[in-house]
Amino acid sequence: MVNAQYVSAADLVGCRYRQVQRLRHPEVPRTRTALMRLARVEAAHAAVWELLPTRPARGDRRRFLRIDIPPVPHDADSFSAELATLEALAAEADLITGAVFTGGTGTEWRVDVDILVRRPHGDYLPVIISNHRVARADESSTTPVIATSRLGLGEPVEGRFRLRHHVADGHRLALAARALEDIGVDCGQGAVIGQDRSRAFLAPTAPLQPALSAALEQELPSFPRRVKECASCRFWPLCEQELQAADDISLYLAGDRARTWREQGITTVAGLIDADLGEPSRLARAWRDGVVLLAKVDEVQAPTADVEIDVDMEAYLDQGAYLWGAFDGREYHSFATWVPLGGEAEAANFARFWHWLMGQRDRAHAAGQSFAAYCWSNHGENHWLTMSARRFAGMEGIPPEAEVAAFISSPEWIDVFRLVRAQLVGPGGLGLKVVAPEAGYTWEDGDFDGEESVNARRVARGTDAAALEARRRLLRYNEDDCRATAAVRAWLRAGAPGVEKL
Ligand code: SF4
Repeated sequence: MVNAQYVSAADLVGCRYRQVQRLRHPEVPRTRTALMRLARVEAAHAAVWELLPTRPARGDRRRFLRIDIPPVPHDADSFSAELATLEALAAEADLITGAVFTGGTGTEWRVDVDILVRRPHGDYLPVIISNHRVARADESSTTPVIATSRLGLGEPVEGRFRLRHHVADGHRLALAARALEDIGVDCGQGAVIGQDRSRAFLAPTAPLQPALSAALEQELPSFPRRVKECASCRFWPLCEQELQAADDISLYLAGDRARTWREQGITTVAGLIDADLGEPSRLARAWRDGVVLLAKVDEVQAPTADVEIDVDMEAYLDQGAYLWGAFDGREYHSFATWVPLGGEAEAANFARFWHWLMGQRDRAHAAGQSFAAYCWSNHGENHWLTMSARRFAGMEGIPPEAEVAAFISSPEWIDVFRLVRAQLVGPGGLGLKVVAPEAGYTWEDGDFDGEESVNARRVARGTDAAALEARRRLLRYNEDDCRATAAVRAWLRAGAPGVEKL
């Protein structure tokens, strides 16, 4: 049977209108972002498949049967894969990869269970592969964990980890448990392999069922509402038409940002403008008129120092920081590593950057000059500065964590986004990509967003032409962000010319 009517766990999270559009417009192709996400999923699968056992442990004379079912895209007919899954279960395979089940009454669902592991009593443990970080090392917690390479061979042990819940992963495991229960082989537990591909973390599935039931029973919306994910959704051109025809307030205030107004019966942009509610109405008017920024203060300002450096960092998922970039007002300096993160190369790269930055500061101080390093929204930088000092403590050139903490809490480390947020307001938000063009700065790679940079980093780890091009793009992107931050500072210092008072 072909499947547009089947709901997946991913469909149950975020915008539910997607499901409506998918049924109405199955012909709309996936976006590039979705294809890149799919490529990351496939890469994760390939990494795990490599680790899974193919034979019994040495000296173990038991039979070991692994059955790999070829993958079936979610929008394709899954009947043969479902049949193959049932046959593999009937054969009492120890490991089954690529299992597929369908089920449900009312809302029919399909769940792809990446790995099924047979347990000693003949029931099965569903294991899914996720690109989330699914657990954190935590000395005060324990959770059952098993090495990926021991799935189907060994038993879980208690590890010092705390699980992190992700709704889509939870729904997938809950569906898997339902499917296994239907055929009498559910073991009551499920496991997730996250960004650390070497471990599967186990948890009971019963607590996941109420949230799944609620999601399955939820009525589908009859109208779109703009949310964050619209930006990369294949149905946006269709939804945008509907929203514009209705002048829906979510065009201006996405997601829940318009809740207060909706609760007051204001559902259109015109309604908000006409309600004459002071700042909210003035901002709605500004949005309609294409005004990007307004000033909240009489005089826009920014601090200054004799030596100024603009910093930007790129991290890959939760694995580490691979690029520290800095613009010193004349030149861009990059500190990059393209090998897998978490080891000596990342530590050495971080050490090089840190000593360069501190060298700039020390030279300024020695010359009697003031120093400031700037960053746009420094949460990520603060996190990886701290984590790099912590993770690589004791390695050559790594500063003590206290030294990093002292610097990032000092007046020499300035968040430009905070300066902007304190003085300006924008109907379309205050992202660097919104503010910097107002300061006259444009990006070379205008459409290179965060998701693409994650993908580019994955490609950049290779050594072929595509990898080299991905590295060039990542460096250009990082340099642009450093220079854009510098441009915004200079523009703030000039009083943000062109911006009117709110
Ligand atoms: S464009 Fe937005 S509202 Fe429309 S289906 Fe996609 S996410 Fe939902």
